[in-house]
Amino acid sequence: MKRTAFVVGMGLIGGSISLAIKRDQDIHLVGYDISAEQLHMAKALGVIDEAASSLEEGAQAADFIILAVPVSKTIELIEQLSTIPLKQGVIVTDVGSTKQDIAAAADNHFGDNVCFIGGHPMAGSHKSGVEAAKAHLFENAFYLLAPGKNSEPRHIIALQNLLKGTKARFLQMEPQQHDKLAGTVSHFPHIIAASLVHQLKKLEKTDPEVAQLAAGGFRDITRIASASPVMWRDVLLHNKEEMLRLFAEWQIEMDSVKEMVERCDGKAIHAYFQEAKAFREELP
Ligand code: NAD
Repeated sequence: MKRTAFVVGMGLIGGSISLAIKRDQDIHLVGYDISAEQLHMAKALGVIDEAASSLEEGAQAADFIILAVPVSKTIELIEQLSTIPLKQGVIVTDVGSTKQDIAAAADNHFGDNVCFIGGHPMAGSHKSGVEAAKAHLFENAFYLLAPGKNSEPRHIIALQNLLKGTKARFLQMEPQQHDKLAGTVSHFPHIIAASLVHQLKKLEKTDPEVAQLAAGGFRDITRIASASPVMWRDVLLHNKEEMLRLFAEWQIEMDSVKEMVERCDGKAIHAYFQEAKAFREELP
């Protein structure tokens, strides 16, 4: 009999993972979403083989469960799944952009019958919804795995095998380290992008022409501000300590640049940009 993978959340990430699994595995793919429209669309687009009528129905029959919903909802779903009779040895994973709170919820709620392995495919888009899903979304991207308390090497191999159609590069990391690193490379830049858009919006009230001038560089640096507010609200709330640390660091950094400008210190300003340019160009 075919194995079954159950994907909860038929959005950009759940849809893309489903497509990547389907192109590589002989597996029955079942999807579920609280939005009947997204679920219907996923089935119509051939992203899944079957739409489950409830979380319980899909979860009970699954060999793998992939939670692809915003972080707060992932934690709620872990609680709900822990009350449903799941298959012995089921592997449960998630795709959330933060890992510590999700790992703690899995540790607290799941018993020995469940193997939880946290996951974060580190690629995406500012678009949402299953219509934006692509089988190749994660190609060559890092796919972080944070094995939970019951996971043994054979479980990790089984999950990597299920997900190998993503063509992502798997990397194991502790949830705490993940949240620290993702804070700098992903979460905090999102705040900066949104804040620049707010700055433009304020100016536009008195100088409406400014919006026409917001091309090139402004569009590049603010592209990610178009992403889902629900997803990003959850990311900030579930990586609060790291965000607060980064706010403090950023303020010190901005004060130092501000002082260079106040002093008209051309040499220091040049060195500041030069150092950033050299480091940026060396990034892999
Ligand atoms: P999305 O908005 O495209 O999709 C989320 C889907 O989850 C929606 O269809 C929504 O209806 C559904 N949903 C919400 N609550 C639910 C529930 N209780 N039960 C069933 N379905 C529910 O969002 P997305 O971009 O696919 O993000 C999903 C997860 O992936 C988030 O945790 C996010 O942190 C993570 N992630 C996103 C990106 C990105 O760039 N978008 C990248 C990596 C990881």
